[in-house]
Amino acid sequence: MSTRDIEISEVGPRDGLQSIDSIMSTADKKAWIKAQAEAGTPEIEVGSFVPAKLLPQLADTAELVEYATGIPDLNVAVLVPNLFGAKRAIETGAHKITLPFSLSETHSMKNVRRTHAQVIDEISNIVAAISESENRDNTVFEVGLSTAFGCTLEGAIDEDFVVAMAAKAIELGADEVGLSDTTGYANPTQVTRLTKAIHHEIGADKMTGIHLHNTRGQGLANVMAALEVGLTTLDSSLGGIGGCPFAPGASGNIVTEDLVFLLEAMGLKTGIDMDKLLAVREQVQKTLPEEELYGFVAAAGLPKDFEAASA
Ligand code: ZN
Repeated sequence: MSTRDIEISEVGPRDGLQSIDSIMSTADKKAWIKAQAEAGTPEIEVGSFVPAKLLPQLADTAELVEYATGIPDLNVAVLVPNLFGAKRAIETGAHKITLPFSLSETHSMKNVRRTHAQVIDEISNIVAAISESENRDNTVFEVGLSTAFGCTLEGAIDEDFVVAMAAKAIELGADEVGLSDTTGYANPTQVTRLTKAIHHEIGADKMTGIHLHNTRGQGLANVMAALEVGLTTLDSSLGGIGGCPFAPGASGNIVTEDLVFLLEAMGLKTGIDMDKLLAVREQVQKTLPEEELYGFVAAAGLPKDFEAASA
């Protein structure tokens, strides 16, 4: 059905907005989601079911899921920290539910306040909750292997352990796992090696996506490695919103506009209209006047006579 070679998953409304102090209004978020869906984006992570006390920026996630699931042909993704969040995601009808499983236990304790044993229990609980729900056939449960490439707190993460936990998540009933470079530590060789090792263990169909940050400028190089080992879903954030507080001037997630340009220029169809996407960027910048958006394509403009693969 899809004529896309690569599926872009826009994570700006979640990963981007959770990392900045500005709180975008629900109306502005809806306008962003709608405009980006209309530009051809197949999937948008609209929020996270975390307590509003912890992340007031994302307090309207339920309303956004309900809104976004009404947009035709849009896959609506959300992050959940635990079973409670997953239940809310199921109730609101999210299509894709991602539970972060931080391979650094120190990071896991800080991020979701759970040990590895507790996260593993939660995977089983969420699998059970989805299988009991009416939406089970329309819900994909992904375990996001975060800090898979290294952790700011623990440093290097043992790759055999990453592979073992990927296998564990699938064994417990998760539909898929995703690799996540939460800290922007990954390099292309590591992306290739870790992806191959996980594919060998669980099958390539159980891991199709990767979540990359551009904290150290390696984002698009890592994308090239991901493409070569057959990954087909790439997370990115419009304007790289959510820059890293430890590296002034460095973007957070890889920039959607630059990623779409890279893919389309190489002949890979994303289904996204570059001009419309750049217009969404303008629209979002107006709603976040305090925030600096990143991206080379927006700054330099499209090359003369540029022909997109999706055109
Ligand atoms: Zn992230």
